[in-house]
Formats: sequence, structure tokens, C-alpha cells
Amino acid sequence: MASYQSKKKSLIDTTLTLNYSSAVKMSQTIDSLFISMQNSLRYSASILTNMNAMPAEEISSTLELLRNSSNYFNSIALVDETGLIRSVSPKSLGTGGKHIVTEEARAALTLKKPYVSRPYISTASGRLMVFMSEPIYDHNGMYRGYIGGSLYLQEKNVMNMIFANNPLDELGSYFYIVGSNGHVLFHRDKNRIGEDISENQVVKKLLQHRNGREESVNLRGEELLAGYVNVPANGWGVVVVSPIRVITEQLNAQILAILLYTLTPFALLMLVVILLARRLAQPFVSLANLVGKIGTEKVELPEGGRHWNREANLLTDAIRYAVREIAKQTDQLTLEAMTDPLTGLTNRRTLEAIMQKWLEEETSFSIIMMDIDRFKSINDTYGHQAGDDVLKHFANIIASSIRPGDVCCRYGGEEFIALIPHASSREAYWVAERIRNTLEQRSNPVGKTITVSLGISHCPTHSTSAEALIQLADQALYRAKNSGRNQTITADN
Ligand code: GH3
Ligand code: MG
Ligand code: MG
Repeated sequence: MASYQSKKKSLIDTTLTLNYSSAVKMSQTIDSLFISMQNSLRYSASILTNMNAMPAEEISSTLELLRNSSNYFNSIALVDETGLIRSVSPKSLGTGGKHIVTEEARAALTLKKPYVSRPYISTASGRLMVFMSEPIYDHNGMYRGYIGGSLYLQEKNVMNMIFANNPLDELGSYFYIVGSNGHVLFHRDKNRIGEDISENQVVKKLLQHRNGREESVNLRGEELLAGYVNVPANGWGVVVVSPIRVITEQLNAQILAILLYTLTPFALLMLVVILLARRLAQPFVSLANLVGKIGTEKVELPEGGRHWNREANLLTDAIRYAVREIAKQTDQLTLEAMTDPLTGLTNRRTLEAIMQKWLEEETSFSIIMMDIDRFKSINDTYGHQAGDDVLKHFANIIASSIRPGDVCCRYGGEEFIALIPHASSREAYWVAERIRNTLEQRSNPVGKTITVSLGISHCPTHSTSAEALIQLADQALYRAKNSGRNQTITADN
């Protein structure tokens, strides 16, 4: 837009300057042409001072010579002081011997001075013409008439011979010449010659004898860049104009060319921008996908893979930290859900799940069910807190008495269960006895001897149902209690 505006301004300035200087040159040309025309008329007038004594042949040949030697005039006439046309060139006009009739010819006769007419239509021929004349005085200073030359404006004449091939046309520019009454004297469109255009803005200024250059609108509403200059010799005006439309069209063509040239780099640039934007966004998209999976599946962020984009790195680190924290919390919650908070042993629900799994896998195993003897009295004597300490103490003894792979569980209040895979009820019995002896002999938080009763069942020997196996172990335990406590009894005894 900036380029468009500045180019438009400079093109307008240049065109105005060009048009004005063309108008100046043309004005100078016309001015000197008219001075030459006037001079040649004056010279002929000086030859014809004693025209009354000259033979008609000589006068006629003088007029012919004047017309043919210079091409200045389309026709030349010699008129005496009475208004009689004494001779005319070319003779074919047929006005020789007649009296002048037109207003302009009479004006020249009465004025008795050098004269340039306005454009007018001749009554004899109906032609549009301009007429100029030079008075003739004899040796005694008596006025004898005038010699007058005419320019036929709409036919081949000296002016259009000079200006015919004007190079202005390239810019769509053209020129015209107006007479001192605002009528067109010369125009590339012959039909407009003679037209009254005195209302035209530029012509108005010319009629006020002003020269200049400006943007103007002609009588047809066309926007033009006009340079206009007066011709001093005859009061005519030369106007050189260029339609702004042509300049705008030129500019539009230039802008279009600029757009075409920039379109390819612009498209390439856009492509690069889009690719870069996608690359920039890529880590965020994959992070978003990962975060979307949190909660539904295990999410792991690939270690190490650093992005070239610092923000993506920061976000990756933050998400990695969050995912780890969530995993830690989940593990903690899972552990809490699986274990008994007081003793840290497996809880009942987990025990049942493990048993179910072993049954499905058809793993053989023994169950040792344990119940501390007279625990209520420990609570009653030493307090509930001491009771809890005894529970923890017993849990430690069980845990240290079994091997890795065995399961030990707090089944309820002061009841515990140990699951020993691939162990016969006999093997389980020795484990049970070891536990029982250890508890009995080891010093405990309350200082008084504590004992435990134990019941054993075996899968698949006794049953392959989890409930039945526990029930069988419980029954064995019940028998141990009834048989005086502090002993181990196996389901089939
Ligand atoms: P028995 O030899 O017949 O097993 O006698 P017992 O007193 O051990 O049997 P009972 O089932 O009558 O008593 C169990 C007591 O264990 C009752 C309850 O107050 C106590 N108890 C259960 N859970 C806890 C616990 O978490 N902490 C404490 N301190 N006591 C508990
Ligand atoms: Mg009990
Ligand atoms: Mg008990």
C-alpha cells in the first residue's frame, strides 16, 4: 500500500510536470509560428502598397507565391478599402471580385490593424476557420485594405501538420488547443473542433490568461492531469492532459506483478511456519495424549528424550513428577488396602484373594489358624494398649517363623492365619509348633507367659474349598482350645 501510494503520487507529479512542459513547448511553437505567419503577411503587405498600380496578374502571382511557399495558410485574400475582394488564392474559391460578408472580415477592414479572428464558420464555404490579416497602407500613408490568410481548422493545415505525430499518446495523453473564446481549435478528435468548452475548469483559467498544472475533471466527468499554457501571440491556449485512469491502470499492473512475485515466497513461508508450528506443538500433543491416559492405564514417560523446546521440557518434567507421585500414592493406597494397619500383616481380604488364586492354580498348601489364649484377660489386666503390643509381638513371631513365599495374615481380633504353599499338614504342624513354642518362651510386652492355640487344614487333602478349609482349621483350633489350649491340632488329627 505504501509503495502504491508513493508511486501514485510520484507518477502524478511526473505526469503533471511532463504535461506542463509539453504545453509550454507547444505554446512556444505556436507563438513563433504565428509571429512567422504575421511576418510573412506583413512582408506581402509591404509588396502590395501600390496594389492599385499593379496588374491583376502580378497581384495574383504574389498571393500564390505567399500561399505555396510556406504552407502557412489554406487560403489568402487581398481586400481593398471598400471591402472588394481584389484577388484570392486558390482561385477555385471563386470569391474574387465579390465583397466581403463575414463579420470577421469586416472587423479586420474597420480595425485597420493586424488582426487575428476567433474561430468562425465562413458564409461562402461553410468551413470552420481562423482568419488573420495585415493592413496595407500606400506611400502616402493612406489605408488601402488588407491581406488576410485563413486556416481551415478541420482540414489539413500548418498546425496539424506540425503536431500530427505527437509522442504524448504513449501515456494515453493528448492535447488540444482552444481559441480566445473557449472554442476548440485543434483536437485529435476532429469532430470536437469548434466545440465551445469554455465551461471546462482548465479552459476557464486559460481565458483568465493563467498557466499551470493540476488535477481536473473535464466536461465529460473524466479525471485528468492537465498542464495548460497561453499562447501570447494570439491569446490561444494549449492544454496537455493524461487521464488518471491510465495511471491507475499502470499502477494496478505493477502491484499485480509485485503480488505475483511475492506469492511464491509467501506460500513457502506459510508452509515453513505451519511445519514449524506443528513441530513446536508436537511434544504438547503427545503429552496431552499421555495425560489423557492417566487413570485408565499405566502411564510411563520415556526417560531422557529431551525436546529442543524448553517449555515442552519444563512441562514434560512437571508431568513426569506428577505421574510418579500419583504412582507412589497409588502403590501406597494399594498397600494400605492389602495390609492390616496394626501389625503390617496381610489382611483378610487379601488372604482370601491369594487362597482363591492358589486354588485356581491347583497349588497345594496348608492353613495354620491361630488364636491367642485368654486374650481378653490380657486386655482386662494390662489395658487395651498392652493388648495391641502383644498382637504386634505375636505378628513378629509369625513373620520370623515362616519362609518367603509363605503368607501370614491377621484374620480378625487376636486370630491369625498362615498359608504355607507346597507344605503337607505334617510340615505345617512343625511350623505351627515352632510358632507356639517361640511365643510361649520368648519374653513379651506384658511379662506374663502368653500362649496360643493352633488348628491346621490342608488343601487338597481336607478340601478344595476356601471356606471349608478355613472352617476345618477353625474346628481343629476349637478342639485345641477345648483340649486345654497351648497346642496344635490338625483337621484329621
Ligand atoms: P480364648 O482363650 O478362649 O481365646 O479366650 P479369649 O479371651 O482370647 O477369647 P475371646 O474371643 O473371648 O476374647 C478375645 C478378645 O480379644 C476380645 C477383645 O476385647 C480382644 N481384642 C480383639 N481385637 C483386639 C485388638 O485389636 N486389640 C486388643 N487390645 N484387643 C482385641
Ligand atoms: Mg478369639
Ligand atoms: Mg483367644
